[in-house]
Amino acid sequence: MHIIYEMTFPHKSHSMKPLMKQIARLYLTALIFLMVPPAWAAEKSSEFAGYEAQVAQKVEAMRPQLIAQRRDIHMHPELSNREVRTSGIVAERLRALGFDEIRTNVAGHGVVGLLKGGKPGAVVAVRADMDALPITEVNDVPYKSLTPGVKHACGHDAHTTIGLGVAEVLSRMREQIPGSVKFVFQPAEEGAPPGEEGGSALMIKEGALENPRPQAIFGLHVSPELEAGTIGYCLGPAQASADNMDIVLHGKMGHAAHPDRGIDTIVVAAQCVTALQAIKSRRIDTFEPVILTIGTIHGGTRRNIMTDEVKMEGTLRTFNADVRKQVEALARETLDGVTKAYGATYELKFTPITTVVYNDPTVVKEALPIMRRVVGDKKVVPVTQRMGAEDFSYYQEVVPGFLYRLGSGNKAKGITADIHTPNFDIDEECLSVGVKVMANTVLDFLNNHASK
Ligand SMILES: [Zn+2]
Ligand SMILES: [Zn+2]
Repeated sequence: MHIIYEMTFPHKSHSMKPLMKQIARLYLTALIFLMVPPAWAAEKSSEFAGYEAQVAQKVEAMRPQLIAQRRDIHMHPELSNREVRTSGIVAERLRALGFDEIRTNVAGHGVVGLLKGGKPGAVVAVRADMDALPITEVNDVPYKSLTPGVKHACGHDAHTTIGLGVAEVLSRMREQIPGSVKFVFQPAEEGAPPGEEGGSALMIKEGALENPRPQAIFGLHVSPELEAGTIGYCLGPAQASADNMDIVLHGKMGHAAHPDRGIDTIVVAAQCVTALQAIKSRRIDTFEPVILTIGTIHGGTRRNIMTDEVKMEGTLRTFNADVRKQVEALARETLDGVTKAYGATYELKFTPITTVVYNDPTVVKEALPIMRRVVGDKKVVPVTQRMGAEDFSYYQEVVPGFLYRLGSGNKAKGITADIHTPNFDIDEECLSVGVKVMANTVLDFLNNHASK
C-alpha cells in the first residue's frame, strides 16, 4: 500500500482539494486491492503458516515417549552393520505413521522412508545414524546397556530417536506440508567391520538419495561440549576427511644379542613414527590442519628375538583434498627413505574413509533464522572446525547439506563426558530440542522452496 501511494503521489498539484480527493481515492484503491486478493495471489504459493506452534505443541506432548524410545535403543545397542533390532523398530514406526514409501535393507540395515505432504513442493532429506560402538558402559543408570562390551557412546541412539520423533510430528501435519520429506536412517556410520562395506557411501550407491533426489539434506550430531538447548553450526568445511593408513615394515630376524646380523624392524618402526610426525611440522603449509596418528603398532614374539615384521595402523585427517594427496606422497617418501637407511622395506596403503564435511553456506544461512526462532538467538552459536570425521560428508557431495551440533551436555548435572568414552551420556532434554529444531528446519526449507 505504501508503495502504491508513493508511486502515484502527484508531486506538483496546485490545488489542495483535488489533491486530498486523489489521496482518498488512492487509499480506497489500495484498500480494495488488499481486501480482494488478485487471481495470482491464490496460486502464489502453497506455504504452510503457523507450523512453529503446531510443532512445539506436538513435541511437548511427546517428551516422555522420546525419553523412553532413546532408553530402549540405548539398552539394546548394536554394532555397525548389525543394526537388526534398531532398524526393525524404525521401519515398523514409519509404517505405523503411514509413510508413503519405506525401503528396508538399504546398505545392510538402512531404512529410507518417504513422507509426501498434502501440497506439491520440494523434497528435503533428514539423516539419522543408528550404530553403536564396541565400548563397555560404565554409567550406573537405569537404562544401562544390556549388551556387554557395546554401548551407544556416540549418541546415535539419540539421533535415531530424534529422527523418529521428526517423522511422527511431520506425519501428523502432512496434509499441510508443501513437499516431501525423505528420512535416511543409516547404519555403520562408525565404519563397517573389516572386509565389509557400509555407511553413507553404500547408502548412496544403493539409491538412498534417488527417486526422489532431495534438494538438501540435514543431519545433527549430539555434542557434549555444548549445553542441552544449544545448537552449534560451522559454515563451509566443518569436519576433516579421514583416511586409514596401514603400514607393514619388513626387516630381518636375528638374535637380540647380535643386532648387526639382522635388521631390527622395531628400531626402524620407531624412526618411522617419529619421521612421519615431521611431515606436518616441517613439510606442509603451517595453516593447513593435518593430523597423522599411528594408533597401533604390533611386532615381535620374544624379548630376545629381533622381529622381521612390524605392522602399524594410523589415521590421517585433513581439510583439503590436495593436502591429503600431498601427505600421502610425503609419507611414502619418508618411509622409503627411513627404511632404506636401515636396509628394511615397507608397504603402505591408504584407504579413504570419509571426505570433508562441507556445510553448504546457502543452506546454513537459510536455516539459521528458524533455528534462532526455535531455541533463541543466543543459543545458536558458531563452533570451530573439528578433526573428527563424519560420513555425512558423502551425502553432501551429492546434494547440499547441513550437519549441525545439538548440545547434549549439562555441566550442572555432571554430563560432560566426551563421545566415544565409556561414561558418555546425554542430557535427555536435548531430545525434544532436537525434534523441534529439525522439524522446524525441514518445514522452513519446504516453505522457502514452495512453488510460487
Ligand atoms: Zn562416533
Ligand atoms: Zn557419531
